[in-house]
Amino acid sequence: MKASRLSFSLGFQHARLLIRGHNTAQLEKTGLKPDDINIVVGTHGHSDHVGNLGLFPDALIVVGCDISQGDLYLPNELADGQPYLIDDHVSIVPTPGHTGRDVSVLVKDTSVGVVLVAGDLFECCDDEDSWRALSENPEVQEINRKVALQTADVIIPGHGPRFKVHRDSTN
Ligand SMILES: [Zn+2]
Repeated sequence: MKASRLSFSLGFQHARLLIRGHNTAQLEKTGLKPDDINIVVGTHGHSDHVGNLGLFPDALIVVGCDISQGDLYLPNELADGQPYLIDDHVSIVPTPGHTGRDVSVLVKDTSVGVVLVAGDLFECCDDEDSWRALSENPEVQEINRKVALQTADVIIPGHGPRFKVHRDSTN
C-alpha cells in the first residue's frame, strides 16, 4: 500500500507543518518536496490554517468540508456528519463547533495508537478556559471534543504540542 502523505493545516510538526510565504524549507527538512505531498488538509477556513495551496497543484485539497482536486470539487458527506475515507488507516472526520465546517484527520494503527489531528477542535492541551470564546458553536464543539477524547490516544491540537489522552478505564 502506498501511504498517503498529508500536510495538515498546511501543517505538521510531524503531523503539522506550517508553510509561511513560499518558504518550503520546513517541508524540505522532513525530506519531502511539495510534489511529494498528495493530500493537503486545512482543518477549517481560518486564515491561520490555510495558505499556499498553490504549492500543491496536483494534490487532493481538503479545506473544512470541501474536497477538491484541480478544478473539480469531489462529492462527500462531511457536512452531513459522515467521514471521508482516504485509505484503511486515514480518514477525514467532521468535527464542527469551532466553525460549522471543521474537520479533523483520524489516523489509526500508528505506533502510538489512534492519532487525531484536530485543528482548533482543541487549541492546545490546556484550553479549557479559552476554547469556548473562539467557538462558533460551543455546544456542538463540546460534544465533538468528548468524542475525540474517547476515540484518540494522541491529539495534535491547532495551537500547541501534541498530547496523550489519559482515559480512566473505570468510566
Ligand atoms: Zn480557527
